[in-house]
Amino acid sequence: MVLKIRQVGDPVLRQKARPLSRDEILDRSIQELIESMRETMHDAPGVGLAAPQIGYSLQLLVIEDQAEFIQKLPAEQVAERERRPVPFHVLINPKLTLLKSEPAEFFEGCLSLAGFTAVVPRAKRVRVEGLNEKAEPVIIDATGWYARILQHEIDHLGGVLYVDRMNSRTFFSQDNYVRHWKDRSIVEVTGYDK
Ligand code: ZN
Repeated sequence: MVLKIRQVGDPVLRQKARPLSRDEILDRSIQELIESMRETMHDAPGVGLAAPQIGYSLQLLVIEDQAEFIQKLPAEQVAERERRPVPFHVLINPKLTLLKSEPAEFFEGCLSLAGFTAVVPRAKRVRVEGLNEKAEPVIIDATGWYARILQHEIDHLGGVLYVDRMNSRTFFSQDNYVRHWKDRSIVEVTGYDK
C-alpha cells in the first residue's frame, strides 16, 4: 500500500523515534509496514524512506538506489558523487559512526520537503550497525552517495532534517535549482555574490 508522505511541519518529523524489539520486528504488522514503505519509496520515487516520514515514530528505514535511476544521470555526476546501485534493504535501530571527517558537499532533497533542495555537507564514509527485517545484526560500511543516504535517513529517526545541516544560502526550489544552478560548481553556488 502506498502511504502518504508527511511534509515538514508535521510534528512526527521532529520526534525521536523509538527502537523496535525483536518480537515487534518479526510481527506481521511491522512486516506489512516494511512492504508499504518499499511501495511508497518506489512510488515517490525516492532512494530512502524513514518510518517517521509516513507517520510512524519508529527506528525503521528502507533504502534502495536503483541502477535505472543512476543510468539516467550524466556520467560525470555519477562519478563525482560516487553513486552506485544499492539493492533494497531494511535497517532497524541503526547506530551511525562517521569515519571520514572531511565532508562532501552536494545538493540533496527530501520527500518530506517536496520541491526543495540544498547543499548539505555529509561525511564521505560511515559505518552503521543495526538489525535487518529478520532482526539479525548487520554492519554496513558505506562510502559516497550511499553514505549520504544512510546519514540522511538515520537523521530522520532522530527528528533531524537536512535543513538543520544545509548551507542555508543554497536552499532553493527544485525549479530554480534546475533553472539557475544545476550546471554550476558547488564552490560557485555556495560562494555566489559573497
Ligand atoms: Zn528525507
